[in-house]
Amino acid sequence: MNQSKEQRILNFVLQNAVRGDPCSVLDAIDKYCSQKEWAMNVGSEKGVILDKTVEEVSPSVALELGTYCGYSGVRIARRLKEGARLLTVEFNPEFAAIAKQMFEFAGVQDKVRLLEGPSQEVIPQLKKKYEVDTLDFVFLDHWKDRYAPDTILLQECNLLRKGSVLLADNVIIPGAPEFLNYIRNNSHFQCTNYPSHLEYMKAGDAMEKAVFLG
Ligand code: SAM
Ligand code: MG
Repeated sequence: MNQSKEQRILNFVLQNAVRGDPCSVLDAIDKYCSQKEWAMNVGSEKGVILDKTVEEVSPSVALELGTYCGYSGVRIARRLKEGARLLTVEFNPEFAAIAKQMFEFAGVQDKVRLLEGPSQEVIPQLKKKYEVDTLDFVFLDHWKDRYAPDTILLQECNLLRKGSVLLADNVIIPGAPEFLNYIRNNSHFQCTNYPSHLEYMKAGDAMEKAVFLG
């Protein structure tokens, strides 16, 4: 049976990274995706912006929308303080299965909970089913037309508190104009743009940070 690209990424990690060493897992994925096959991981350049934001926020509860193979999940989890947790949402069962193995191999499985399903169904369940009070940090990296409606849903479900930080990837490529328009013209959010490049490419891309002001 033909293997998927995502299975090939996982196999490369299993063969080239060190079990229990998240940095070696990230390096192996970056090497494979820059040299062999492009994939939609946040990548090492924007990954540094993600790392710095996670360090600055020091979240106890973080949410990621869009797990894919687990690259950014490993990136976030390796920077979490003791006792903190990452909830990551993925609706593609094949990608979810790959990501679970990636988290296990990287040794971050105790900090990460993968929630399988569409974000618009999972978000309203976070409080009751997953015992979330409010989210300290949210990484938006799923399909770009969901950034704005899911931000509104997070607000409607009272999951944001004063100081919660949203970080959105790919606001230039593929682009999230509806989201940018929503948060930049909203007195409840304070926004910062971080210009960068599309993962594993030279094309310009950016991340947008939006701090919820309450
Ligand atoms: N954050 C990942 C990383 O940097 O390693 C990359 C995520 S990839 C760009 C987007 C992922 O979001 C895909 O795996 C896709 O299946 C998933 N996705 C898209 N829309 C979704 C939704 N509404 N709910 C859950 N998952 C979704
Ligand atoms: Mg992305």
